[in-house]
Amino acid sequence: MISRKKLISKYIDFFSTKNHKKLVNFPLIPENDPTVLFITAGMQPLVPFLLGQKHPLGKRLCGVQKCIRTGDIESVGDKTHHTFFEMLGNWSLGDYWKKEAIEYSLEFLTKDLQISKEDISVTCFKGDKEVQKDEESSKIWQKLGINKIKFLGKKDNWWGPAGKTGPCGPDTEMFVNGVEIWNDVFMEYEKDTKGKYIQAKQKNVDTGMGVERTIALLNNLDDNYLTEAFLPIIKKIEEISGKKYSSSQEITRTIRIIADHIKAAVFILNDQIVPSNSERGYVLRRLIRRAIRYGQILGIKENFTSKLVNPIIKIYSDYPELLSNKKEIINELEKEENKFRKTLNSGIREFAKMVKSKKKISGKECFLYTNLMDFL
Ligand code: ATP
Ligand code: MG
Repeated sequence: MISRKKLISKYIDFFSTKNHKKLVNFPLIPENDPTVLFITAGMQPLVPFLLGQKHPLGKRLCGVQKCIRTGDIESVGDKTHHTFFEMLGNWSLGDYWKKEAIEYSLEFLTKDLQISKEDISVTCFKGDKEVQKDEESSKIWQKLGINKIKFLGKKDNWWGPAGKTGPCGPDTEMFVNGVEIWNDVFMEYEKDTKGKYIQAKQKNVDTGMGVERTIALLNNLDDNYLTEAFLPIIKKIEEISGKKYSSSQEITRTIRIIADHIKAAVFILNDQIVPSNSERGYVLRRLIRRAIRYGQILGIKENFTSKLVNPIIKIYSDYPELLSNKKEIINELEKEENKFRKTLNSGIREFAKMVKSKKKISGKECFLYTNLMDFL
């Protein structure tokens, strides 16, 4: 058994002994990056330093970072993808390279987390017309006794550049029981304006390990939602809806989506964003409204989203600002839910009227209605 907090502290302690300095857990809203709405990975707040600016804490950094990936929203409902999750990471800003990075990863997995080598498999970049195969990484893995190595293309084992040009490179992903838990990215190249990959002036290492997936694995659970990062929220949804999490595939998925979306919403609210019709506020609004619509599938008719705030705050007691913002968070959820339920009810009334007044509803009307529901 290992708790979420214990995993985080083990990680930070391990990398501290390897002379890494600990970063703060940055807000979800990127400070100097207008290209993204939310922080999607631990490396995001480090962009200027990955590009060569000197970091005040030095060349070896580590930390845990809260992330939001709206791009994964379609996958939410499975066992391993969340909109909000925490990412552990260690970075080398032009300091150590592939050998040390892979050695550190394997040492942490096998010594500190006690995962046996036999259960670990990895993927490496297979090379293409533009960039050579990453034999360097695969040879390091083999030397360390990891022989389950797959080579994949750019879609799976390549990172960047973030824009059209800039740092990029191969990565090597670590899997345990078929689930990817950690990724070491090697920023080896720079893509230039002609689309050519040239050797980077500063070669960086950027790694990311998912907290939820790793604690599931370490506690022998094959579902992230059964870990302490979600279970109290799931229990609360069961209590409110009177439905059991494991009663059917559809209910399991529905409860997961509600838990995921409201957790993400709580963290977005915690970073001072409120529901609106544009950008971050719109993402927040969509998350809350989607959760409410899924709540309807469970038969929940009354306001419920704010009832999930307490279990969320309890899980994340290491984010004390959640507690100080609790009142505002609850207030915003209530406000948004009231507003949405009003719209929802009048939409349903309209639809009922339409059904009553006509013998048939055209495909177009039905389409418009379902779209309306989806975008509300
Ligand atoms: P996947 O292919 O499983 O979606 P990924 O390749 O998108 O993962 P990375 O971008 O390499 O993942 O992120 C680093 C680590 O963060 C992953 O190894 C995983 O442990 C974790 N992670 C990534 N996306 C999610 C998510 N949506 N929910 C939970 N953990 C995630
Ligand atoms: Mg992904």
